[in-house]
Amino acid sequence: MPDFLPPDLQAQRQQVGDLAATVLVPLRDDPSLTPECRAAQVRAVSQAAGLYALTQTEAAPELTLLVLRETLAQHGVGHLPGLFGASAGVLQGVAEPLRSSHLLPMLAGDKHTAFAFTEPADAPRATWARVDGEHLVVTGRKSYVTGGADAQFLTVLVEIDGQGPAMVVIDTHTPGVTLTRRFTSLDGSHHAAFAFEQARVPRHHAIGAPGDGRGRALAKISALRRAIAADCVGTMAGVIDLVAQELQRERRGGARAASERVRLRYGELRIQAYAVRATVYRTARLVDAGLDAVNESIAAKVLATEAANQAVDTAIQLVGGEALVDGHPLAAALRRLRVLRLAEGETDTLRVNVARGHLDLGKGRL
Ligand SMILES: Cc1cc2nc3c(=O)[nH]c(=O)nc-3n(C[C@H](O)[C@H](O)[C@H](O)COP(=O)(O)OP(=O)(O)OC[C@H]3O[C@@H](n4cnc5c(N)ncnc54)[C@H](O)[C@@H]3O)c2cc1C
Repeated sequence: MPDFLPPDLQAQRQQVGDLAATVLVPLRDDPSLTPECRAAQVRAVSQAAGLYALTQTEAAPELTLLVLRETLAQHGVGHLPGLFGASAGVLQGVAEPLRSSHLLPMLAGDKHTAFAFTEPADAPRATWARVDGEHLVVTGRKSYVTGGADAQFLTVLVEIDGQGPAMVVIDTHTPGVTLTRRFTSLDGSHHAAFAFEQARVPRHHAIGAPGDGRGRALAKISALRRAIAADCVGTMAGVIDLVAQELQRERRGGARAASERVRLRYGELRIQAYAVRATVYRTARLVDAGLDAVNESIAAKVLATEAANQAVDTAIQLVGGEALVDGHPLAAALRRLRVLRLAEGETDTLRVNVARGHLDLGKGRL
């Protein structure tokens, strides 16, 4: 039994693979669809297949989530907007009134949110708030807020005077909140920067106990890191399939697969993909066993993103210039994968975090 996946998950993987090949790939490639229309159709298909709600179901096993993400990525559709419902994320378990005003509308898709964690490099101070009666008065800036321009509210990491870090829900129409910049990154995703100038936010918009903001943010970021790692595993598998077809194709002078130097490169692609997949599955199993997997999630993310970037680069060398033509699957994979070495934690910073996790906190497994 490959990868020791339970039979029901193997069946689910097969179904999702079929759905990707027969429905999602044609939707991805249909030039007549606007992005909004494509997202709506993907969402409808995903809902009908029972995929959409998986990210919103607390009980969904991590291994299931990651194997299905990997399967979608292998078909080159894992990034399509509309595939998965917004997860509760840092709003997990919030009490009323935030539950009704923000969490439930977000899960229903009626309100969009974005995660505001990163500070611009030139910010003089991390975003902070003072308590004023029943309000927090928030000042500061955030950058690289993915989907921020379309969000009705942000979850913002804020340093509250005298209390410590908190994740705070801030409606984007609040006076004092300004969208200062919209931009698009190499992979085509949209981001925004925000300024907060004495923005008054109800005090109950601070989620959880005082001071536990970083912990909440970290739980969300860890889940995203594993999702990225699974996406890389699938993308690597798709890239390897494509390279194999190219190498075996008959051409003048014979198929490239006959060359030993080409085989060396191809073999290395497979070895890396094997190691990365094993790492991601093991990390999922740690999470499903209820164990602390912060460091392992970092290790999986760094290993997977670095290996996948290297793999697509090698694949392009093997296939040749045609692979760099806009619209080629390898050119598209290169654009998507490159940002993942920075998003949710830059590689070297994460390496240092893993070192700190073990040397200073005694955490992390080999
Ligand atoms: C596609 C994409 C989507 C994103 N979405 C979001 C989002 O939704 N919300 C959000 O909050 N953020 C988001 N980000 C931001 C992302 O989390 C940051 O880009 C990432 O954490 C790296 O931070 P940085 O860009 O400030 O780079 P830095 O952390 O400044 O790193 C740049 C370089 O400086 C080095 N460096 C950093 N610190 C030190 C030091 N102390 N000493 C020596 N060298 C150092 C690093 O190793 C690295 O080489 C997104 C980024 C991308 C690319």
